[in-house]
This record gives sequence, structure tokens and C-alpha cells, in this order.
Amino acid sequence: MNVNQQTPMASPYGPPQPGYGQPSYAPLGGGYPGPYGPYNGPATAYQPGAPPQGPARGPLTSAPRPVSTPQAYSQYPQGDSQNGPPPMDHSMAQPAHRSPVSQPYSQGAMNLSGPHPSYSQQYGAPPPMQQVTNQMSGMQIGSGPPTSVGPGYGKILSPAHHPSSQPPISAAYSSAAPPSYTQAPPPLSAAPSQPPPPSEPAASQPYYGGPPPPQQQPFPSAHPPPAQQPFPNSAPPPVSQASYSGPPPLTQHSFPPSSQSGPFPPISISPSQYPGPQPQSQPGPPPFHSGPSPRGPIPPPSMSQQQANHLPPGPMHQQQPPQPGMQGGYPTQQNGAFGQPRGPQPGYAGPQYSGQQNYGAGPAPAPVPPAQKRLDPDSIPSPIQVIEDDRVNKSSEPFTTGVKGQAPPLVTTNFQVKDQGNASPRFIRCTAYNMPCTADMAKQSQVPLAAVIKPLAMLPPDETPPYIVDHGDGGPIRCNRCKAYMCPYMQFIEGGRRFQCGFCSCVTEVPPHYFQHLDHTGKRVDCYDRPELSQGSYEFVATVDYCKNNKLPQPPSFIFFIDVSYNAVKSGMVNIVCQELKTLLDYLPRENPEADSVVRVGFVTYNKVLHFYNVKSSLAQPQMMVVSDVSDMFLPLLDGFLVGVNDSRMVIESLLDQIPEMFADTRETETVFGPVIQAGLEALKAADCAGKLFVFHSTLPIAEAPGKLKNREDKKLVGTDKEKSLFQPQSGFYSNLAKECVAQGCCVDLFLFPNQYVDVATLGVVPVSTGGSVYKYTYFQAETDRERFLNDLRRDVQKPMGFDAVMRVRTSTGIRATDFFGSFFMSNTTDVELAGLDCDKTVTVEFRHDDKLSEDTGALMQCAVLYTSCSGQRRLRVHNMAVNCCSQLADLYRNCETDTIINFFSKYAYRSILNTPTKTVRDTMVNQCAQILACYRKNCASPSSAGQLILPECMKLLPVYLNCVLKSDVLQPGADISLDDRAYLRQLLSCMDVSESHIFFYPRLLPLVKLDGGSLPMAVRNSEERLSKGGVYLLETGLHLFLWVGANAQQELLSNIFGTPTFSQIDPNMTSLPELDNPFSQRLREIIDSFRSQRSRYMKLMVVKQEDKAELIFKHFLCEDKSTSGGASYVDFLCHMHKEIRQLLS
Ligand SMILES: [Zn+2]
Repeated sequence: MNVNQQTPMASPYGPPQPGYGQPSYAPLGGGYPGPYGPYNGPATAYQPGAPPQGPARGPLTSAPRPVSTPQAYSQYPQGDSQNGPPPMDHSMAQPAHRSPVSQPYSQGAMNLSGPHPSYSQQYGAPPPMQQVTNQMSGMQIGSGPPTSVGPGYGKILSPAHHPSSQPPISAAYSSAAPPSYTQAPPPLSAAPSQPPPPSEPAASQPYYGGPPPPQQQPFPSAHPPPAQQPFPNSAPPPVSQASYSGPPPLTQHSFPPSSQSGPFPPISISPSQYPGPQPQSQPGPPPFHSGPSPRGPIPPPSMSQQQANHLPPGPMHQQQPPQPGMQGGYPTQQNGAFGQPRGPQPGYAGPQYSGQQNYGAGPAPAPVPPAQKRLDPDSIPSPIQVIEDDRVNKSSEPFTTGVKGQAPPLVTTNFQVKDQGNASPRFIRCTAYNMPCTADMAKQSQVPLAAVIKPLAMLPPDETPPYIVDHGDGGPIRCNRCKAYMCPYMQFIEGGRRFQCGFCSCVTEVPPHYFQHLDHTGKRVDCYDRPELSQGSYEFVATVDYCKNNKLPQPPSFIFFIDVSYNAVKSGMVNIVCQELKTLLDYLPRENPEADSVVRVGFVTYNKVLHFYNVKSSLAQPQMMVVSDVSDMFLPLLDGFLVGVNDSRMVIESLLDQIPEMFADTRETETVFGPVIQAGLEALKAADCAGKLFVFHSTLPIAEAPGKLKNREDKKLVGTDKEKSLFQPQSGFYSNLAKECVAQGCCVDLFLFPNQYVDVATLGVVPVSTGGSVYKYTYFQAETDRERFLNDLRRDVQKPMGFDAVMRVRTSTGIRATDFFGSFFMSNTTDVELAGLDCDKTVTVEFRHDDKLSEDTGALMQCAVLYTSCSGQRRLRVHNMAVNCCSQLADLYRNCETDTIINFFSKYAYRSILNTPTKTVRDTMVNQCAQILACYRKNCASPSSAGQLILPECMKLLPVYLNCVLKSDVLQPGADISLDDRAYLRQLLSCMDVSESHIFFYPRLLPLVKLDGGSLPMAVRNSEERLSKGGVYLLETGLHLFLWVGANAQQELLSNIFGTPTFSQIDPNMTSLPELDNPFSQRLREIIDSFRSQRSRYMKLMVVKQEDKAELIFKHFLCEDKSTSGGASYVDFLCHMHKEIRQLLS
């Protein structure tokens, strides 16, 4: 029957019709009941709050509109206040006198729970507050119509009744609170205008032995600049920030042609034993998908092809007994390494490397002459060479997706994609493009079957974004049984009147309005006019059937929650955030660059109480309402809380000007966190919309409130069976809260500015469950961290995203999605719920067999994401992917993608530590990889000596990358990494795409030799022995950028980069390079900028001088070397793997 065959979709691809996206496909009614199953379920049962204030977009001010492209953030319009609403009331604008202001908030009639005590503020509030108070009384907030609906708080009694009669309460709690450990000492060197009670700093000590009180010179000269340190050491002001992770399009890494010889580095260990360079499996790097189908339908599995990576018996088997490599006895590679570049690396001629002579010596029987014991690092598979080969072979031609089962170029290769019926690798990457036909085969090989999906990935400018298809009231066409969406895998039959589903084989009638004749090949004649019949990725406009409660959604809202406790204010964070928001609000996401964003905004500040602001456009000044009873959070105002930026521009600007002043002298050190999120959730519920909360938070929330946390940091647990508890949330409170957030489409982004332990494992629960992000700026200092924070914030606010999303992955009969990794929530086994889904977020999906697959039909998957766009439109984005199936193991091993396998393994391992001791997790990973390689050796490789390590060509980097995962800070921490950082990195990785995880585990190390032309210098392997004392290197980890300067670097080089020829005069604290007028300097800064632009998080630059203390941090990323935390070197690990494999085979 061939029914399941995918429709041919290759070459004769006609350009998509320009008309896409237009309602031109609008069918004629006839509603198609496309129940998105579980989705239409009950949304949370809250009362429909106050009538959302509509799109709330008044007359636009003529303020300079943001640049059309959301990207070009740099050109901010300058203060455009003159265009705003009428100038504020004269008297109110005067922030001069500071009278103690009290803003008691008294609860209205419908008290929710218990008395909400009235409360008076006592931060040396600036004058405006006085006004606010007065206004509040004048306006009688709460009693008016606005609040009528809400969760029942009637009127808010005007606080002003006893403005001054209230005792200055704040003073009481701020000074009385010293015992809390949260209060870090005044962090900044800048003398706080009003330091907290003296007792505070002291109080913090007992709890956090780690970092020294940041206040003093944060960085003892020798220490690395604070902010940049990736690893919070206990000693130096750490800085843990490992904050970045970006998901940039994998496209750009380009490496210049390599000078290394041969298509592959010979893998044999000792030439005498192995006949030199192997017959390469890639006999001449055939141009990848050049034509119709490049590597196409799988090259024949000739044995010779698979033998490319034989490691001869050499040293490997000599060390079996004691296995010296893995444990002691192996001299660190660093010895004498500096300045002794390795041969093969271009541009590094130098003395022959002679390290490692002792390798294998130790306990080994050692009957072997020293010469043979040495495992030359240059003879083992080189990541650099593999990356380079792929770049050379595959970057020149576009990658077309029409050929099923074709592995794409590596993420490190810059290539263009043409959608011809399967999703672009920018949306979906698979671990295997030839899936085993049976579960037995899959089990035997142990190769994970998974896809890394980035549903809303941004594409480079030269690629077409998915077309939008509007079928009108009928909605998308779907299979009657499995509900798969119309796609190129549906086979039209009976003259076009019905179609058979490629996933479940069910036959469905074609609705009359969708009917079309077939051509002689059985293909619809309009095939190439319709994206859903010819493209791998596209979007449908969803009908009301796909909306919560069968109601079209409101546009989303953004709510900003700013911690105004002592640390937050003193670090400069509050001021920076408020200043930035004034301009950033003009860049809220929008679909039409010409139009204003319809996203509404709201503002809250908090410490241990919450301050809500009414910024209604009709007000002359913002009004503050304080909610001091945080035990049962509610929203004190509805009307005027969420507003359109243009409508309320003047009020908002006034508010943002006032906030830093209002809290400038605060002594409050305690914060709450749970109530903050609850407040945002309530606000979105009341407005009946989805949205995102931006929470800028500084300390462990120890104030009495729901979600209160205690400091449970206990480094003694590291390495024990109880270590896992450190990664689990402290209580179930935040998990439950996250569930409620997801139901409302409330995504939470958390920006942390901690000076000590804040329990990221617990605070991160809500962001991680709602598709949000966590950013961390440990020991934040305005001067040095401002740039990084602002770049992150700008990107985070502007980036394209969807709200209230549900993702489902359907597969053809035989396999199904069984496991998911990422930032989301699942209430059943199939639907991935994402309160928010931005362009950087990835979901990794594992598949398992539930039946046999057929080589004829292959395996199909369809990922459908239902979401609300930033303009409030309900959409369905569909990605389709077809891969081949094979009955021969050799075929499986020929068509895998190691970078994607590592992405899957690392996510699997990082999640496993929640329930399993890290050592067990590491052992499991090693064992699984050994099984993968042993299976290959046993079933696919040609007979050879048992002493040879034979690796499949496309997995020859599996050992080196796996080792990087095993020795990462999460799985094998050094003494200097904090628990918060580990929790943070763990969360970060969970939603990384393949490009990000690749550089995260194997950073890019560039020698800055000649920087001419447009290409980059070829990277070198991540090992100290590759560094030349006379050179300067740039290291990119995805989270950090390091500029390593050799002690003997040439004067000219130093002059070009730093403006000084003297090594000793280079300031290691600089975070940006001087702008010098020479080509080298310009090019280097361009390279740094381009690296940054490729990542979703801003990478701060850290200058590391050879032999400075900060060099330890830098060396930590030289992942081919042995690590201080006990991680094996690449050479040692490869020997270890070989031993494991041999054991499995014997
Ligand atoms: Zn179906």
C-alpha cells in the first residue's frame, strides 16, 4: 500500500507563495473540531477578575519609536518626556523634602484572611510619597469601581488618615532583624550612605563562611576581578557567576582551514604498531548535501569505513591491571607545559613536547619500554580536527532538509538551511538519523534515541521563518485518530478526497474546503503552494477551540518586581533597573515592528512587604499601596496596575525616578519571595491574561511569609549519598506555586544578585517549571557588572516568546516520546506545558520503541506547540522530522550526532543527581558509553587485536566529550564551587540547545596570532600544553570570555591589544579592551562582539595573566587536562574507556 510513505518532497520545490500568512486559505466555515485534548480543560478556577482594561492603548505619544528591529536595541530614544502626558503636577514633582510617610494599607471590607494590618512605610521616603499618600486618600482606592470584581477586597482605606501618627515601624524591624544570615554586609566598597545596623555584618558570618565580606576591597589584588570569576571560591570574592548560556544559532562558528594533515588525525597510538593514518572513512570529504542528496541515503557500510578510528594496542593494554591512568601516578600534564606547544598545532612550532613520559609507569607492569608507554595526545581524536573538517566540508552548500535521515552539519559549522519538508536542524536535532528498527537493537547499542527541539528558535536573516497558515474558522486539518496536524507525511488517496495519516495510518476525510486534485504522482497539485504540505516547519493560526475556556486570549503582561531591601539598593541594582526600564519599556516584544507593543506592564517593589503601584494614565503621580500581610497575598488594586506603556508613560517614568530615592536609605534587609510570585500570579489572574514576571532579587527569603527559606547550605554533604538533597527544593511550596503559575500562563524570570547562599535550587523551581530563566550576578557591583546585567535584561525583555504554551510530540507507530528534559511542567505524560517559551529554550525528548519500525517508512515525529504570541494571537507551530530506520547496527553507528548525544546524556545526568549520588551517576554514564562503543566494536568493526580501541567515526569524540560532562562542576565539583552555582548550572543546562551544551562542555580556545581577514584563527585543543607563553588566547565557554596573556607575550602584541608593551602593566581587572586604533585591536574586539552576539547571555570578559591567581579559574576550562577536582585528563579517560570496553567484550 505504501500508505505510510512520506510524500515525496524533494527537489522540485517551488518557492513558497508570497501569499502565505494571508487569510487566503480561509476555508468556508465548517468547524473542524480540533480538540487540543487536555488543553481545553479547565483553566484555573479563579473568578474572571476585573475586566481587563482592554488593550489599554491610548493615543500613542509621539515619542521616538523603537527601532523597527527588536534587535537594534542600542539606539534608544532619549528621554522623550516632553511627548508624554501632561507634565506632572507641579507640587508633586518636587522631590525635595522628605517627610516620613506612612502608607498604611488597610484592607477593605472583603478581607481575605485575617486582618491585614495597616502598615506604615518608613523608608526615608521622598516627597513624592507624601503626595502619593495624599492622593491615595483622595482617590480612595479600592472603594471605587475598579476593585469591584477582584478577589474581593473592597476598599482600601485611605492610609492618609494617620499619616504621621504611625510609629516608624520600619525602623523597628530593620534593626531588630540582625540575626538573619541574609544580610550580607554592605557589599560595596562604596560606603553605603546608611549602613545597616552594625550587628548585621556580624550576623552573616556564622552562616556563610565562604566569601569574605565583599565590602572591602573586593578583590585583593591578586584575586580575579570579582564579578567575573566563574567560581566562587571561598576565598576570593567569588563570583560565581556562571551565568550564561546562550542559545545562539549555531551557525557562526567558523574555523579557518586547518593545517593539520589528513582528513582525520591518525588515531593510532604508536606508529610502530599501527600502520599510520588509517584509511579514512571519509575518503575525501565529499561535499555535504551538495546536490539532491549528499551523504544521502547512507553510504554503504563498508567495513573499511568503520575502521577509521582504531587505536592500536599500544599503551592501552599495557596498563590494564592497575590502570594507572585513572588514579594517581600520572604526572600532571602541566609540568613544563607552558611554552611547549605541540607539534601539529599550526603556528606553534616549538620544542618537542616531552611531558607524560611517566604515563603508565606507576603500578603498571611496565615491561614496555618507556617510549611505548606514552600515549601521544596528538594521536587521539581531536575535537578541533573534527570541527574543522566538518566546517571545510559542509559550510559551502546549503543544507536542504528534503532528504530523510540526513545528519546535518555540526553546530560549530556555519551553514545555511533550506526547508524542504523536514524541520531545520535549528529547530530539531536528533541523536541518530538511522533509528534501529527494533527495541532489541536499540537496547543492544545503548545509543540514546532523542531529539533536541527548540521550537521558537530564531533563524539567521538569510533563512525564511516558518510561514503562517490561516485556515479560518475551520482551524488546522488533523488526523481523526491521533490528531497529528496536516504535514508532508500525510498521503492523499482516493483522488484527494481522503488522506492517510503518516503517524497512525488512520484515514481521514478531506474537508470540502480543503479538497484538491492529485497529480499523476499522487501528490496534490497545490502541494508547493501550501506550507503544511511541503515544509518541515510552519504555523497555523489557532481557532477559539484551541484557547483556554474557548475564549480568545488577551495580550500578555509583563510585571516587574524589584527587591528594594538593603543589599539590593546598596549594590546599585535598584537604581540600574529603574533607569534601564525607562527606556527598555519601549522595546517590549511585538510582532509588527511598526506598531506599538500591546504588552501591558505593572510594577511592584518589595522587601518583607510588597508595594504595589497604581500608574494609571490619568494620575499625575504614581500611587503606592503597601501590602504588609504577606501571608495570604492579594492584589490591592486592579485598575491602574497593568497599563500600556504609552498611555502611562509619564506616571511610569515618575515612578521609576522615585523608587531609588524612596528606598535609598532603607535598613530593611529581609525579603520575601513566595508572596512576590503569588502577587504576580494574582495580577495575571485578575487581568485574565498570561504574562511574565521579572523578579530582581537579592537574598535568601527569610522573612516570615509563605515560601520562607532557611539556610541549609552544607558542604559536608558534597560527595555523600545525601548530596542529592542539596539539589532538591527545600519544600514543596514552590512546586505547588509553579503549578498554579503554569495553569495561568505565568512565566517567571529571576535575576539574582546574591552576596551569599540564596538557595538557587529552591528559588529556581518556579522559573524552571514555567519556562522562565534564572540569571545570577554574584557579588554584583554596579561598575563591573552593569554591562552584563543590562545586556541580559535587554535581551530577556525583548526576545520573541510565546505564552501559555503546550507542546506535544507525536510519533509514527513503533516509537513514542517517553521522557522530556527542559524548563517546563507536565501534569500528564504527554503534554509539555510551558507558561512561557522563548526563542532560546530547548526541550530534549527521548524516544523508545513500543513496536517495530520499518526500514521502508522510517520514523516520523511531529512537534506541535500551541502558544499565544506576544500580540495575543493563538498559534500552533508545527515541526516535522523524518529519520531513517535500519536493521543493521552498522547503519546506526554511521549516522549519529555526538554533540546531540552529549546534550541528551548531560541533561539526563544532571537530572539524575536529584535522586542518585553523583558518583553513581558518573559510573552509569561511563558504563553506558562503554556499552555503546563495545557494541560497535563487537558488531560493526572488522576483526582486530583486542588491544585496539576502535571508535565509530561519528562517535570518535564521545569519550572526550563525555569526560567533560563527568568532570563538570555539577557532577564533580571542585572545592571552590558553591552549591548555588552547581544548582544554577544544573538548571541552565536543562534547556540548552546543542550549540550551547557543546561549548559549555568543550570551550573554544583561540590563539590570537594573526587576526586578518574575516576568518577566525583555528582553535586549539583545551589543554595547557597547547598554550604558548609567548601568546595571547581567547577562551569562550558560553558563559564567560577569558583573555589569557602569556608571560612572554610579544610586546607588539600587547601594545596592539592593551596599549602597553609591558606585561606587568596590564590591568587584570579590566572588563573591556581599550579601543585602540590598530587593525589587530579592532579585529579582536569584533570577534568578541560577534561571540557575544551568538549567545543568549552576555559573556563578560576577564583578562587572565599567566601565573596570576585568576589563572586557576581559566585552567578549569582546559578540559582535556586533569582537573583539580579529580577529573581525568582526556588521555587518561580514553584509556579508562578502553579498559571498560575490553571488559565488556571479554
Ligand atoms: Zn494519525
